[in-house]
Amino acid sequence: MEWGSGRREVERLAEALAEQFGGVPIDLPAIASAVGIIDVAYCDMASAALLQIGPVWGTWGVLIRQLDARARQRFSLAHEIAHVALGIVGDEWRYRGEAAERGGRTLAERLCDYYAAALLMPRALVNKAATETPDVNELARKFDVSEQSMRIRLEHCGLHSLVTVR
Ligand SMILES: [Zn+2]
Repeated sequence: MEWGSGRREVERLAEALAEQFGGVPIDLPAIASAVGIIDVAYCDMASAALLQIGPVWGTWGVLIRQLDARARQRFSLAHEIAHVALGIVGDEWRYRGEAAERGGRTLAERLCDYYAAALLMPRALVNKAATETPDVNELARKFDVSEQSMRIRLEHCGLHSLVTVR
């Protein structure tokens, strides 16, 4: 999968999933549960999040770094949902160390980040909200994401010129 076409495809998948769970802010715990994540625990650890195989086939647990801000934790959970939903769980084990060493992100990791952003901030909903409330802080609050995530998403959606950034 390439970045350009892969990005469009994961966006489509993420938005279809988000649409099943109502409005803004996106009900992430419900989505996590729907994809088989049966436990989300918060603990003191070095990485932002970790996906673990659950006790029954098709179930998963997610560990989230407890010191992170709430919005960051939501993004981390959305990223792990992406791994499960996209079935790129092998890469999580194989490439994590490698990517960390290079200080970069693999294509799989970048696609999971893109999926996470699309899941938390579906394009149609962001478009509507940005038209009504063209303020990045307000939008971040509304979607329960960090301002940085919202800024990046607005750029991806071509809406950044519409919105005031303080
Ligand atoms: Zn990952």
